[in-house]
Amino acid sequence: MSCTPGAAILDRVTVLADVASIVSRSHDLRETLGNVVDLVAKRLDADVCSVYLTDPDLKHLTLWATRGLALEAIGKVRLSFTEGLVGLAAREKRTVVTRRASEHPAYRYFPETGEERFESLMAAPLIVREVPIGVLVVQTMHERSFERPDCELLQTCAQLIAPVVMNARLLDLVTRSDDQKARVVADLALLGLPLLEERTAPPRRTDLQGIATSPGIAIGPVYRLEDPLDISAVEYTPNPEPAGEAADLQRALEAARRELDDVREEVGERFGPEFAAVFNTHMQILEDHGFVSRLERAVALTGNAREALRKVLAAYRETFDKIEDLYFRERALDLEDVARRVMGNLLGVRHHNVPLAEGSIIVAEHILPAHFALLETEKVAGIVSEHGGATSHGALFARSLEIPAVTGVSGILEAVRPGEIAIVDGASGRVHLAPDARLRAEYERAQHRYEIAVEHLDALKDRPAETRDGHRVALTGNVGLLNDLRLIERHGAEGIGLFRTELLALAHRGFPEEAEQERLYSRVARVMAPRPVTIRTLDLGGDKTLPLMDVEPEENPQLGWRSIRLMLSHENAFRAQLRAILRASASGNVRCLLPLVSSIEELRCVKLIVADLMQELAKQGIAFDRDMPIGIMIEVPSAALIADALARECDFFSIGTNDLTQYTLAVDRGNERVAKLYEPLHPAVLLLIDRSVRAAAAHGIPVSVCGEMASSPLAVPLLVGLGLDELSGTPSAVPIMKEIVRALDRGEAARDARCALQASTAGEVRVLAAGRLRTAGLLDHPEIGSWLRTIVETAERES
Ligand code: PEP
Ligand code: MG
Repeated sequence: MSCTPGAAILDRVTVLADVASIVSRSHDLRETLGNVVDLVAKRLDADVCSVYLTDPDLKHLTLWATRGLALEAIGKVRLSFTEGLVGLAAREKRTVVTRRASEHPAYRYFPETGEERFESLMAAPLIVREVPIGVLVVQTMHERSFERPDCELLQTCAQLIAPVVMNARLLDLVTRSDDQKARVVADLALLGLPLLEERTAPPRRTDLQGIATSPGIAIGPVYRLEDPLDISAVEYTPNPEPAGEAADLQRALEAARRELDDVREEVGERFGPEFAAVFNTHMQILEDHGFVSRLERAVALTGNAREALRKVLAAYRETFDKIEDLYFRERALDLEDVARRVMGNLLGVRHHNVPLAEGSIIVAEHILPAHFALLETEKVAGIVSEHGGATSHGALFARSLEIPAVTGVSGILEAVRPGEIAIVDGASGRVHLAPDARLRAEYERAQHRYEIAVEHLDALKDRPAETRDGHRVALTGNVGLLNDLRLIERHGAEGIGLFRTELLALAHRGFPEEAEQERLYSRVARVMAPRPVTIRTLDLGGDKTLPLMDVEPEENPQLGWRSIRLMLSHENAFRAQLRAILRASASGNVRCLLPLVSSIEELRCVKLIVADLMQELAKQGIAFDRDMPIGIMIEVPSAALIADALARECDFFSIGTNDLTQYTLAVDRGNERVAKLYEPLHPAVLLLIDRSVRAAAAHGIPVSVCGEMASSPLAVPLLVGLGLDELSGTPSAVPIMKEIVRALDRGEAARDARCALQASTAGEVRVLAAGRLRTAGLLDHPEIGSWLRTIVETAERES
């Protein structure tokens, strides 16, 4: 290709934008191509612009659209790949440029087009998956040298229209008769062209991003959990005797019940009874008379248990699909789970433990609670799922077991190959498939640092969290499962700074019963006593949605009907929870925490309900702590701004920096596109924390931070300096927080905090905090020194 300088200067970007716009509005191929050739001719200042498309024989091109050639030539001019400059562009899959076309050895004259009048030519092939599906050509009457940018522009235009051409030819199928369809499909196949679904198939991706669900780093071989059994597709031969088939079905039902019972027990033992609830629902279905008798009737009719399952399932699905309410519609999923279990038993495929290699990375469509009962979890190093968020049931299990996990990794199922090595970074949400030696070594080092640090620090758990100058800071843990209590013990947290109760509700897919809540909270209070347990009332909605009857999807769920707002309008459920918390207060040192308070009225409203419930309980002679502290979370800027008024009427503050950062900076905490803007060390967030701490101090009430910020090494010195009494973080981070606290001098930390409040950017704050970790000697810490060094150096480099 020869591109010599000398042609018009083009506004490349606008041309491409215009072509892209035509293409994006395309609904008729001829019209689209007509518009493209008009535009390109005009913008390239060419006398002719044409599009030739490849015929299904892959050997010829036909003129489909032109501006400048005789219009009658459309559909008539047909040339072989071996003919002319246009054929050359298609055959060699490259752009052909010539100043004097008639002198080019490949030149060929087509009388229908009147082409002899044109001198210079530039032809770019339309390529889809290495197949030339057409050619975009421009010609000029007078001799002209096309510049390199002209060639590139034409190539890019060709690239833009190629998929549209492809798509249009496929979509055209629906308008054809079956005969024609078959022919076109055969033609397309012959062309080796991708069919519709393949068109979008991306090349294999090896670096994927998902939702950081459970922290830690795992490196190991991939174990791909198979897709659930497809009842319609499995091969099944029924018993030749109808009575035998009916008996087989009964046996399968019975086996499924036994199986469920085992799973329920195993999960209950491992994770606490609250998680067995999911399996209760399944058992209920298996024992439902309607379900079972429908199955029996269908098997009597068809003599085929698989057909019976399929029919009954379809009937239920049809009914469920008509239900508007999401909660009830979702019950169909439970039915399908149950039917698959029965089918498995019909086939003799008992749900048994899947043999796993040591240190496997499980890759599945969803992380399901059942996986934890079926898999040998001690062999699971990490978990990745295509779907699901950080609050799915399975995610809760993963966190509880401290298994690094990343959920919502779109494309992982397609990209992953069983047995290959994968890296799961549960803190950042990154997954790397088949990493090269350098990347693997890097992660191995990080993993090693992480594990060693956790181990060594746990051994020091009994040391007090006290600054060098003798100031105590309470270090507590955030938990949500009974099973998490062992983490509190293992990592030496001084209590529970945040007990997230919504996990129980999510496991139930609804508001749990009062009695069940009471059992759970009392048990937690008893186990922890006399250490404090801060139980937060249900913080549902936003990203923790529960399929409730009256809750429709919202435009802005984070600003919508969530948390305390939702509970105040579901008063019965709220009263049930508050009663359960009050009753549990008799068993230990319980505090009640209200999330997302944004006004004083909300606090007053809850206090009235609590006062009423106290009277009720007293009347019934039920024990509770009359002085149970009621605190609020500061996680909305309005609450921080009126902290003084709120502090006057509540017993403690707990600052939820996860939400406070989100609402102060207007950055969705779950949106990866704005993740870079999500910065708890932003001076605006610090100013609100400072204001809340001062208000708490002025009214003599304790104040803690329970957002993730409390366990961030850079934030800890600043939070201590701002005067926080308590930091509540992920239990496994508590030992690290303690080492940092112990290396600080409160006076110095306070000076840093004052400077941070004067800073203009989060970068300045990070440098300040990094400097403190450095001067406190923490970079030489035998356990966490090298890990902190990376954090400090990154903060200094990036600020
Ligand atoms: C917070 O917002 O900081 C908090 C602790 O609550 P959650 O993360 O559960 O919203
Ligand atoms: Mg919150």
